[in-house]
Amino acid sequence: MTRPLLEVADIVRAQGDRFIHSNFRWFHWAHRKALRAIARCRTAVLGGHRDQCPRCGYRITSYNSCRDRHCPKCQSGARDKWIMARQKELYKVLCNRPSEEENRHRWQSTTH
Ligand SMILES: [Zn+2]
Repeated sequence: MTRPLLEVADIVRAQGDRFIHSNFRWFHWAHRKALRAIARCRTAVLGGHRDQCPRCGYRITSYNSCRDRHCPKCQSGARDKWIMARQKELYKVLCNRPSEEENRHRWQSTTH
């Protein structure tokens, strides 16, 4: 998976403190907590683990996720899962919809 050129975490790391400082009147500790989680997500700060391919021996380091419900990285999987579930539901509805003839028959039986 390729990393996008700019992530929300990059913006938070670059301007988060300045944003908090200029909005301290309404800024709540929960907002700060969410921004801190987003900035730390999938970085060495949260730790990680190494995976190695059993065939070629290629190693890759994966950093842990913050698992914060406001984090776009952590919620992208949940969002994709939700979209897939809605697509399945829509597919079922489309496959099980009555034909025009069935609709006409239903309409005629209710009106006559
Ligand atoms: Zn996260």
